Amino acid sequence: MAPSIRELKGIGEKTEKLFAKVGVRTTDDLLHYYPRDYDIYDSPIPISKITGPMKCAVKARVSQTLDVKKAGARTVVTGKIEDDTGYLFVIWFGMPFLRTVLKRGGIYVFRGKVEPKNGRLYLEQPEYFSLASYEKMLHAMQPIYGLTKGLTNKTVTKAVRQILEQKSCLKDYFPEDFRRQYGLEDYGTSLMDIHFPSCFDMLKKARKRLVFDEFFFFILTVSRLKEQADSTLSSFPLKEVWKTEELVERLPYELTNAQKNVWYEIERDLKSPRAMARLVQGDVGSGKTVIAFLAMVMTAENGAQAALMAPTEVLAKQHYDSLKSLLSQEEWDCYQPLLLTGSNTQKEKRERQGALKSGVSKIAIGTHALFQKNVEYQNLALVITDEQHRFGVHQREEFSHKGEKPNVLVMSATPIPRTLAVILYGDLDISVIDELPAKRLPIKNCVVDQRYRSTAYRFIREQIQEGHQAYVICPLVEESEGLEAENVIDYEKNLRRLWNGEIRTGILHGKMRPSEKNEVMEQFASGQIQVLVGTTVVEVGVNVPNATVMMVENAERFGLASLHQLRGRVGRGEAQSYCIFMQSNQEQEQSRRLEILGKSNDGFQIAAEDMKLRGPGDLLGFRQSGDLEFNLADIYQDGSILELASRAAAQLIVSGSLNQEEYRKLKDKCEIYMKNKMEEIQL
Ligand code: ADP
Ligand code: MG
Repeated sequence: MAPSIRELKGIGEKTEKLFAKVGVRTTDDLLHYYPRDYDIYDSPIPISKITGPMKCAVKARVSQTLDVKKAGARTVVTGKIEDDTGYLFVIWFGMPFLRTVLKRGGIYVFRGKVEPKNGRLYLEQPEYFSLASYEKMLHAMQPIYGLTKGLTNKTVTKAVRQILEQKSCLKDYFPEDFRRQYGLEDYGTSLMDIHFPSCFDMLKKARKRLVFDEFFFFILTVSRLKEQADSTLSSFPLKEVWKTEELVERLPYELTNAQKNVWYEIERDLKSPRAMARLVQGDVGSGKTVIAFLAMVMTAENGAQAALMAPTEVLAKQHYDSLKSLLSQEEWDCYQPLLLTGSNTQKEKRERQGALKSGVSKIAIGTHALFQKNVEYQNLALVITDEQHRFGVHQREEFSHKGEKPNVLVMSATPIPRTLAVILYGDLDISVIDELPAKRLPIKNCVVDQRYRSTAYRFIREQIQEGHQAYVICPLVEESEGLEAENVIDYEKNLRRLWNGEIRTGILHGKMRPSEKNEVMEQFASGQIQVLVGTTVVEVGVNVPNATVMMVENAERFGLASLHQLRGRVGRGEAQSYCIFMQSNQEQEQSRRLEILGKSNDGFQIAAEDMKLRGPGDLLGFRQSGDLEFNLADIYQDGSILELASRAAAQLIVSGSLNQEEYRKLKDKCEIYMKNKMEEIQL
């Protein structure tokens, strides 16, 4: 166990708590708490290029002596600056001394955020530099960390610097030959450079190394699981049942051919004496849920139990409700499906756990709660994880230990090429649902900028008046210093103000308690909330067919795959649906990326195009999808590193090198990695 961050200078109980909020407890956590973005000191631009809100630096002359006024308790300093192409206003708060520092006629570089105010463009609270000192700063990259209220970027930066000074934690665990063979930067250098890169190339090398490591340890784990699985592959085969045919016939729609094929594959697996271990990949809306239900019903009809685990309570509840609508009363009474989640009362938990232990209940749907220590099953023969990319491999593994060699089915909407899927899910067979149900109105997409904002709001309002609902997605939960992006909390307040409370709004984000999230989701599902402002937590699986608008703020901040998942939340009902991708800057390249979404509704194709278009700038920013258990690595962007890591791992395993002295440090590191991962999921 790495030492607590309390060991660092300047971190007391209060700061420790703040760090805990962003998931940093040990010095090791902090070392791997990578910046979410970097502040780059770009060359100054001509003032005439500034037409709206943006962050920039300008080289300009102070046109007139600065004006100092009192506004309440604050001093406000204002002024005008100019270059050969135009002028701009500047404003500072609480810095009266500037009047004597920045003299009329002086030329400086001013750097900050431009905001319109009363029809004028103001550079707000800009930093200022002499020309010579800005020259030195030019192209420097300052880390910007994810923060929470009370935790400043400076605090994080200082703490990280302190650890980096203790060189002991920076020692490499890969032997040098190994590193050279795979073209990897040294570990310590990589950590230094990911936090404080001196240039873009260094950052790239650092990132490559750290991404490699994430994949590498992951792959070693998967291969170990595979070894274990192979020796335990055999379960009791299920008998074919009529009930599943009956259900298929009763569906209000016909299964697509792709669904049928995948269901046959699963049925065959279930009938075989080998335990099933299968991944079903299918794009959002391809209809994976019904396939899971069929497998559960087949299991229950055979007198055994089936459990379906979803990553959120909201989704679990939804699955439970749709199963209810699919089954007849008689079937329901026979299987006695139950819902088990963290927000059940103690009494409910006790009752439901009892029903699982006695085997009265044949079908369980829920969250992690399904495989907590005190949950026992009578004869669990099928475990399903929905949205597998949200769980770690170990969670899947833990889950399957609840039964005697149960059949394992995992479902994922993350479209990844087969070659990569084989590496990431090495221990699973793969089925693909590569077809969407027909008769869906294609979603209308548009990529717009700030100028379209008021039109967008008007449009949403109209949709609400027609009885529909809308989602608005922001990248951040709350305001975070240095990160230029919309946040849920302030955004929703502004919307309420804009609409005078005439439209009912609500918020949903990852920092809320599960019970709060459930409540909000239920209010949204029932139409009580009309516009839901949230983070990407809404991206996973939810189904509110009445929602027809998905508006995404700072769309350039998200990976295309993520945007595609978000878009999948609308277009689920009969009505025409719309997706509005709002970009905060008008860079050509960004627009091109986003336009891929406009041209295609096929997640697989989008992922492929996205990879082609990803430029060096995409290393930055918070595009990380949070999928699987990677911190920095992104399976789309880093496919080639994934393949490299896979080759390296295979070579080590095949050659048995891991047992050599040279590789001892690496071996120890692997053990720690696996132990940590196990601890993470012990609830
Ligand atoms: P996902 O694959 O994203 O989990 P779901 O299983 O939630 O998709 O299905 C999305 C919607 O499509 C649901 O409302 C479901 O009832 C419907 N659906 C599933 N299969 C078909 C089909 N073959 N034809 C028409 N609608 C379908
Ligand atoms: Mg789903």
